[in-house]
Amino acid sequence: MEPKDEIKAKLDIVDVISEYLPLKQAGSASFKAPCPFHQEKTPSFQVSREKQIWHCFGCGEGGDIFSFVMKIEGIDFSESLRLLGKKAGVEINRFTSAKTNERQQLLIINRLACDFFQIVLTKSHQALVAREYVERRGITEELSSFFKLGYAPKTWDTLVQFFEKKKIPLKSVEQAGLIVPRKEKSGFIDRFRNRLMIPLFDIHGNTIGFTGRSLDNDQGPKYMNSPESLIYHKGEILFGLNLAKYAIREKGCVILVEGNMDVIASHKAGVMHVVASSGTALTQTQLILLKRFTKRLLFCFDQDAAGFIAAKRGIHLAKQLDMDVEVISIPSYLGKDPDDIVQKDPSKWIELIKHPIPVMEYMIEQSLQNRDQQKIDDKLAISRLLIPELCLLTNVVEREHWLLRVANLLEVPVDELRASCKTKADSPLSFPIPQTLKNNFDVKFKKTKIDRASEIIFSLLLNSPIFLKDDFLRIPSQWFVGEFWQEIGKFSRLWYDSFDWSSAQVTFVNWMCEQARQSSLADFESSIRALALFGETLISSSQQSQARESFIQAVSILEDAALQREQQSLTKSIRAAEQEGNQEKVKALLQQYQNLVQKLSSQKK
Ligand SMILES: [Zn+2]
Repeated sequence: MEPKDEIKAKLDIVDVISEYLPLKQAGSASFKAPCPFHQEKTPSFQVSREKQIWHCFGCGEGGDIFSFVMKIEGIDFSESLRLLGKKAGVEINRFTSAKTNERQQLLIINRLACDFFQIVLTKSHQALVAREYVERRGITEELSSFFKLGYAPKTWDTLVQFFEKKKIPLKSVEQAGLIVPRKEKSGFIDRFRNRLMIPLFDIHGNTIGFTGRSLDNDQGPKYMNSPESLIYHKGEILFGLNLAKYAIREKGCVILVEGNMDVIASHKAGVMHVVASSGTALTQTQLILLKRFTKRLLFCFDQDAAGFIAAKRGIHLAKQLDMDVEVISIPSYLGKDPDDIVQKDPSKWIELIKHPIPVMEYMIEQSLQNRDQQKIDDKLAISRLLIPELCLLTNVVEREHWLLRVANLLEVPVDELRASCKTKADSPLSFPIPQTLKNNFDVKFKKTKIDRASEIIFSLLLNSPIFLKDDFLRIPSQWFVGEFWQEIGKFSRLWYDSFDWSSAQVTFVNWMCEQARQSSLADFESSIRALALFGETLISSSQQSQARESFIQAVSILEDAALQREQQSLTKSIRAAEQEGNQEKVKALLQQYQNLVQKLSSQKK
């Protein structure tokens, strides 16, 4: 057996997906959850245990166990093989594709560099300045080794030499972003020099890059990150997530801070459900990643103007993703950021995170910073900041509550404030709306009555091909309208003609998906999956006899439509024959027409 099939045989898609999503049973063998790949409130992501497939009716994504893991982990097929192979206890050959090979090599290089920097920090006499710095920041040896902190020495090519000795191609080390070509001569020099090295990990704990903190204030930027590479995309990782993921699930929320040092400090205080956006503006990708673990997000950004702007942006982004957002606001006497607080007193940090405040409270607090609400200019500035925030509140109760607060604060009548919010709310929001998600289920299947009938026919057929065989084969192929339905009708016939149709129905769906993959029709495969899962819901909510009744009803809708089309074309032919003056033909056609009308009226009864 191929490893792929062996894994499929050993793992249940429901078990695997429920490690990522809170699946809820929706039928005898189907499960639902909010889709992790698009934003939604009502779950349209469906998994079938029977068919071992998943599909989202909202965004049209779907597939098998492998495509799910590939998509949610952001890995390629061979990596998904390895990941699931591990789970299933199936041996997979390493380095299955060139790209994986390259990725693997970069991971190995980063890991070696990480070990190297760590040894230098703890052992080398050159690292004295770094050890002093670490100590000054209150980072214990234990904490330092937990985060694998290291030191890149002040010399020009220590790391280059290290990799040369290991016989690792320097070109690859360059690709990993650890060394750079010399400007004048040939050869390479180290990218990071005299810096405290903070390794960056992916969600599985692989080293994918570094942040180097300068220990010499005159030398380059304070923080320097690895450049983007095949394995490191700065907008897609969150510092500390690999260490925080279990704590996040346990606490039911995550604290988002700005700096890597804040995460390390927080761990020192024993608060582990903390991640940092790590030197970049928070991205939607990072938030979607977090949302896999929790919906509840506590912002704790630096207590300065830049921190407020970043927090505000991030809060809006998170709200768009329908996350529950609150803010941990740092009182100025405690310091500027979590690192400050923990340095002074870890227990203060533990206490502070117990009292998150609503976003609106934070906005009010910030709007009052350095402003005097008695002065008209300041009052205007405050209102300019707060009114757009009020407009974003969609819950009426919540909105009224804060309207009243702000009205009192600004000493304006609440009705007037409400009115100014209303006009604002109707205008486009000030932040970008995420790209429109294509809704191929609605577009494809909910167009016409015929489409809806065809949808019922095939979704039931995919689930009960044996039971409905005769009913299906009685349908003339010309009753199906449109390329999509004709194609799926044709394939279904082919299935009955050429296959042992008495085999398990899971094979029917899989066989159809296989045909669909080879078909040139766009979205064909995803539509087949959608139909199969839709049918599962239909059947699980009714008896088999009822299902057959719906099937036959749907067929009669198709027949009706077919007869009407025939009627129209006959009318045309009769008119043409009349114009030709061909009385024989007119007579014959009229007879046909008569029969048709009779047939139609008998059907109506
Ligand atoms: Zn979706």
